Amino acid sequence: MTGRGASLESLRQRIEPPCAALDFHTHPLADFGPCPVSTPAEDAGLLAAAARRAGISRMVVFSLHHTCARQPDMAQIREANDYALRLRDAQPEVFVPFCYVSPCFPQEGAQEVERCIGRERMAGVKLWVARRASDTALDPIMLQAERWGVPVLQHAWNKTVGQLANESYPDDVADLANRFPRVRIVMAHLNGVNPRGVETVRSCPNVWIDTSGGDPQAGIVAYAVERLGSGRILFGSDAPLRHPAVMLSKALAAGLERQGLRDVLWSNAARLLPDWSGVAALDEAGSRRPANPPAREGRIDQG
Ligand SMILES: [Zn+2]
Repeated sequence: MTGRGASLESLRQRIEPPCAALDFHTHPLADFGPCPVSTPAEDAGLLAAAARRAGISRMVVFSLHHTCARQPDMAQIREANDYALRLRDAQPEVFVPFCYVSPCFPQEGAQEVERCIGRERMAGVKLWVARRASDTALDPIMLQAERWGVPVLQHAWNKTVGQLANESYPDDVADLANRFPRVRIVMAHLNGVNPRGVETVRSCPNVWIDTSGGDPQAGIVAYAVERLGSGRILFGSDAPLRHPAVMLSKALAAGLERQGLRDVLWSNAARLLPDWSGVAALDEAGSRRPANPPAREGRIDQG
């Protein structure tokens, strides 16, 4: 761009995050991407490049299997988790994989958490729409998350029409949080649960909300920060369903104080994720500190 307008580079600088940024909610292109990918390495490269162009350096990623079956079997679940591990293999400095499980298989799900967190050092658990969060079938999986001290990211939405039979409402997430007060739960989709969802979990100190989902409605991030505090809101894009740069702008344009923005873009994630994820605290300038040393085997981190 030339002439009276700003250059492309100066425009880009205006939408650069002021500190390191971590996206807490992404999927492989193989699950939801607009174009086919042939290998996990290609997938990782394209996803990470789109994030990098937006100023995002790290991404929590979980696969829902390339079929995105709402009721996956255990073979599909293991395949999905192996795919997420291959993304980390391709770009370990970018991807923080979470273990996807279905409460339709409570005991096998708990064993899969043991494999993925205990052995493979994934950094959290992802739950989608197989069962609602208020269903006690989640309990063996939640006990594993508690044992390993890792966060649980629970899909939630608050639809007027079209809610899936087993799709969690914010009320279900609040129920889960009350059953497991020592597990830190991230309720997905601020723009899906909306202000009513924010109010529903306000009294649950172990619930955070990610900023993904729905339309980029003005004012919603500022509202959530006002009601819950910046310490309980995490930037998440739901890429590649949404472009990370567009979703990041919701947080950048929310008028947050410097510290609040650092919380949302990085520091809350650094506090929630286990040491072995390598997501370290920011220094004064907003840069990432060197990665933490590898965690000791079997470490249990209760924050
Ligand atoms: Zn998602």
